Amino acid sequence: MLAVEGLAKVYGSGSTEVRALSDATFSVERGEVVLVVGSSGSGKSTLLNLMGLLDRPTAGRVVVDGTDTSGMDDGRLSSLRNGRLGFVFQFSNLLPDLTVIENVMLPGRIGGQDCRREAERLLESVGMSGQARKRANQISGGQAQRAAIARGLVNRPALVLADEPTGNLDSATAASVVDLIKSMASELGQAFVIVTHDRHQFGEVDRVVKVHDGRVAEAVAA
Ligand code: ADP
Ligand code: MG
Repeated sequence: MLAVEGLAKVYGSGSTEVRALSDATFSVERGEVVLVVGSSGSGKSTLLNLMGLLDRPTAGRVVVDGTDTSGMDDGRLSSLRNGRLGFVFQFSNLLPDLTVIENVMLPGRIGGQDCRREAERLLESVGMSGQARKRANQISGGQAQRAAIARGLVNRPALVLADEPTGNLDSATAASVVDLIKSMASELGQAFVIVTHDRHQFGEVDRVVKVHDGRVAEAVAA
């Protein structure tokens, strides 16, 4: 569904140059759950941002549904992003003046769809039904994280990219988020690429991508 080929990213230039990612090649198939692991600063978020078409690579390419995205202008990239991809960021970035459910429905609104029922269902799955009508600035960090997970899934994106989605959660909530991800992958064929510090939390997955000093060291089944 998405492949990266020889992907590289260099930030800055000259004496401030940082080679954040070099020659990353692997693919993610429909319904797969892929973990990205590696120490802090190894290039995980850089890889995720490139896969999500949020940033452009210095070299290599991102192929979505068999189509090379390198030559696309920003408009085509953002419509591909809105149509096919979902995001769960580490810092949840909810809009503070909207209610929780309005935030969750936002990706559907952008796509011109009313997804209230899907939003309600997802909020229930992450244990947030009781908070749906609160404003986003009136909930806790862990609750905001759960709302951000629901928001990332509401469009039923073919691929969800998540950076530490369970990082702020207690173990029971984290376990229910893992269950939700796995059931969406197997029942709806959605693919997930998840940066995590705790790969054991996810149990068996399809693939683990290890990033070390900007290099993809291994891409194997768990
Ligand atoms: P991780 O997510 O694994 O912690 P990152 O992908 O955030 O790692 O960062 C990889 C490397 O690139 C680090 O050395 C980081 O300091 C650097 N880096 C990340 N983003 C930028 C940026 N926007 N400008 C300059 N350097 C960056
Ligand atoms: Mg990171």
